[in-house]
Amino acid sequence: MLHDLEPTLEALYERYRGLNTGSVATYIPELAKADPDRFCIAVRLVDGTGFAVGDSDARFTLQSCSKPLILAQALMTAGREIVIALTGVEPTGNSFSSMVGLDQVGKPLNPMVNAGAIVTASLLAGRTREDRFERMRRNLSAYLGTEAELDEAVYESERRTSDRNRALAYLLKSKGTIEGDVEDHLDLYIRQCAIGADTQQLADAAATLANNGVNPVTGQRAVDAEFVQDILVVMLMNGMYNYAGRWAYEVGIPAKSGVSGAIMAVVPGVMGIGVYSPRLDEYGNSTRGLAVCQALSRRFNLHILDQRTPD
Ligand code: GLN
Repeated sequence: MLHDLEPTLEALYERYRGLNTGSVATYIPELAKADPDRFCIAVRLVDGTGFAVGDSDARFTLQSCSKPLILAQALMTAGREIVIALTGVEPTGNSFSSMVGLDQVGKPLNPMVNAGAIVTASLLAGRTREDRFERMRRNLSAYLGTEAELDEAVYESERRTSDRNRALAYLLKSKGTIEGDVEDHLDLYIRQCAIGADTQQLADAAATLANNGVNPVTGQRAVDAEFVQDILVVMLMNGMYNYAGRWAYEVGIPAKSGVSGAIMAVVPGVMGIGVYSPRLDEYGNSTRGLAVCQALSRRFNLHILDQRTPD
């Protein structure tokens, strides 16, 4: 099925390295320092083989790519009923930091927008801030296949500028959707976004979901198999924000993007894809990342509703 995958990735890298539309996120000041030209595409097959083309040494923060992984941890901690009741699974036609829904019904539309992700972070267990972070960090390490590390500069930068997320969090608390110390939950959310990775590790995280919850390189289970479908559905419906419908139409595989310029995409039972390129479009999705995923999906008939056999 994936005949010629490696040369295809090389060709896509060459084809799109000149695509310079979009701009690097600046609303988190530290992200504005990213080199806009860095570009890497990586895959990890469920048999453990993988390769990366381009700037494989480029490091970035997970940002919203952490959201499906933290959703997974919340599902394992609080159970499906509570998580879905509190976060919802409906697509939103609004941006990732939208307040829509919070004022009237008091709950987010889904766990891939910031409000929903603050709810999932609030459900993570632990006695203290540090204890909760350590458990989260360990769980994220299972996806990345290496010790997950906090990027202190990005963490500090977002912490100082998170007025909007703070407002979302207090609104959620006022409606009883989150309980406990709002600042603790917000801090945990900001930390999950500031976990560092390279593109191969991002592909490994996606491959872990493609492999029913087990990291195909280390063999370590990151999430119980019973929750993988929940996560993939939420990613497919909501992972690309208000571009999700178009993404489902044109690419058709569960994915998640982050404002650092990362996209992780899951081809269930086959492989994980990671793309890093920090220039973003108007929705906050990496422009080269979108182009690469669209081309890969077409080339290999990856769309989950495509019933043709690949050439
Ligand atoms: N940390 C970012 C925020 O909360 C994550 C958003 C994103 O990656 N889309 O605004």
